[in-house]
Amino acid sequence: MSCLRRSWVEINLKQICKNYQVYKENIKKDVDIMAVVKANAYGHGDVQVASCLQEVGVKQWAVSNILEAIRLREAGILGEILVLGYTPLTEIASVLEYDITQAIISEQYAQELLSTNLKVKCQIAIDSGMNRIGLNAENVDLCEHLIRKCYEKLNLNGIFTHLCVADNNDLDSIKYTKEQIERFNVIAERIQDLQLKYIHYANSATGLWHRNDKNLVRLGIILYGLKPNYENNLPQGIKPALEWKSVISMIKTVYPNETIGYGRTFCTKKQMKIATIPTGYADGYNRLLSNKGFVLIKGKRAPIVGRICMDQFMIDVSDIMDINEGDEVVLLGGSKEEVLTADDMALLIDTIGYEIVCNISNRVPRVYV
Ligand SMILES: *Cc1c(COP(=O)(O)O)cnc(C)c1O
Repeated sequence: MSCLRRSWVEINLKQICKNYQVYKENIKKDVDIMAVVKANAYGHGDVQVASCLQEVGVKQWAVSNILEAIRLREAGILGEILVLGYTPLTEIASVLEYDITQAIISEQYAQELLSTNLKVKCQIAIDSGMNRIGLNAENVDLCEHLIRKCYEKLNLNGIFTHLCVADNNDLDSIKYTKEQIERFNVIAERIQDLQLKYIHYANSATGLWHRNDKNLVRLGIILYGLKPNYENNLPQGIKPALEWKSVISMIKTVYPNETIGYGRTFCTKKQMKIATIPTGYADGYNRLLSNKGFVLIKGKRAPIVGRICMDQFMIDVSDIMDINEGDEVVLLGGSKEEVLTADDMALLIDTIGYEIVCNISNRVPRVYV
């Protein structure tokens, strides 16, 4: 694969497989993994990630929408592909054609799906307290009724719920997670006689840090070596699988009392050596990193000066010797002893590692190493 050495991402598929294996070693033996590869596998390349995980035995996949599901099928991904979110009913023919499993996200959605008289493969989403999608778990009778009806008329093979604070350590969150699981289990018990194949609630965080009495984990962020939350440490051996690199396009000297970039937000107090990096917010390099973030060059941190532009930004390299135009810089990843992860970057701008990697745009070539 060709790579334009302007701004590019290197993805280590072996590390993703290793993360999967280490994660598996840290949970109960009989628990299966559903690999969550939505949003282009959190920016890592869905087809590449799924293909390598398929080789090590993964047979279940979760995506956010039907187009992502079709992409996987067309690339030869086998097994169960669950669409976690909304698919317009106008696309239901594709769900059948590609043997996709669609989440039923509301009562109305269930009724509409039932009225098509098609044997759509599906799982029912239960809302146990997140208030996003799913049947309200408090209405146990209605949930049971709909599950049984869908079981009869559609091809229903599971139910699931999603936990909204499973990644938090405080007592309140732990209590809330327990309550969510209990609410879900009330429903699971009611329909036990149906022996549905897939009954699940665990995401990455739940699988490691909560009691999972079901036999499936929907493994997303930890597959990619990032943390669900800063508070928790990942098991030994799980590491980020993605490095984002760019180069120095230009180096110049800037004199005292000059300003750098749009809005003139950075003013030099002394003479500085400034380098320009040909990556910008159109590549997904967050503009909030303006005057805040840093990159790594030859094992040293170089702070961002001025605003991130659409396609470029500037860094202070006054203290870094022996650098030249064309030299590689690390936007995410390791450089000698220094490491800058997507989680570290997220912390600087009050977001989460998930968003950092998902936002790396299509303009940035992915290289598989
Ligand atoms: C994205 C998603 C997951 C994966 O969550 P991680 O925190 O990345 O493990 C699991 N379940 C649902 C419903 C999701 O939307």
